[in-house]
Amino acid sequence: MSKLCVVVPAYNEGESLREFHARLAAVFDQIAAQTQMQCEVLYVDDGSRDDTYAVMCSLRENDARIATLKLARNFGKELALTAGLDAADADAVVVIDADLQDPPELIPKFIETWREGYDVVYGTRSTRAGETGLKKFTSAAFYRVMERMSSTPVPRDTGDFRLMSRRSLEALKRLRERQRFMKGLFTWVGYKQKSVVYERDARFAGVSKFNYWRLWNFALEGITSFSTAPLKLATYVGIGTAGLAFVYAVWVFGKALLLGDRVQGYPTLMLVILFLGGVQLMALGMIGEYLGRMYIETKQRPLYLIDELIPASQTEATQIEDSVRRSSAAGVH
Ligand code: UDP
Ligand code: MG
Repeated sequence: MSKLCVVVPAYNEGESLREFHARLAAVFDQIAAQTQMQCEVLYVDDGSRDDTYAVMCSLRENDARIATLKLARNFGKELALTAGLDAADADAVVVIDADLQDPPELIPKFIETWREGYDVVYGTRSTRAGETGLKKFTSAAFYRVMERMSSTPVPRDTGDFRLMSRRSLEALKRLRERQRFMKGLFTWVGYKQKSVVYERDARFAGVSKFNYWRLWNFALEGITSFSTAPLKLATYVGIGTAGLAFVYAVWVFGKALLLGDRVQGYPTLMLVILFLGGVQLMALGMIGEYLGRMYIETKQRPLYLIDELIPASQTEATQIEDSVRRSSAAGVH
């Protein structure tokens, strides 16, 4: 019997979780009836400060299909997701947000596509309800810039909502870099991918945890983790400016030789100094971005720390059954 595991990172989602689980449980019932798959959900509490973990635990007590994982503090969505995916052991894994912006009802469609032989099935948003014009604009701009700059194209308007087959999950687990831009890592893995278009709903409750500053850093992460274009740009701008400066110097020098110099160069001198200074700073800044990332990478810290991992009771039951079967087959009691 094949197994499905849904990984849900949650940070201060106490208000949404019950509603989320009610909808997910209905979807699980449907999947179990139609495909005989064993369904499980792993809720990852990313160091929430509200009652998220308590809600998770109370849900777990009433539903054998729930596993919970609590991180030691808030590590951010990308790492919460990584922790969840590392703990997941299933033939197909689905990643979904807890705020009900991505409809769990789409999962059966994902599974159908997976059964057709696709390794990665991702949701592409056709609309994004409840988000401001500015957020939609910046997000669209980001995907288009990424597309041009990176050799690993991240599909447009695609969030983390997706299904992965076991082998693409195993591949993803091998990417242990610290600066994790999950959307990029998902695509880097490759294999056969297919998109399913859906309409993104507004948040069920609470507010987005990503303000513009966090989003800007997220975009920087995406670009610098998956592209060295800014580094190259610095080189080209540097070469271009140096070339222009050289031509200009020859001209100034020639003019001084032919006509003599009457202390006139002050404005141009200032201009050149300032301009070159600016270009150098820009190049240094870009190098700094990469250097900073290398610095973090060289520390080789663990990506996250788990506080508590409680498997779903249905899994425990099957594991015990399995070991009993195995030992009785071997004649050991
Ligand atoms: N999230 C998380 N850790 C964080 C921030 C967010 O686990 O530090 C979770 C959050 O609970 C939600 C998902 O990541 O399930 C997406 O977050 P959010 O809805 O705030 O992002 P948006 O949809 O606005 O991009
Ligand atoms: Mg959201």
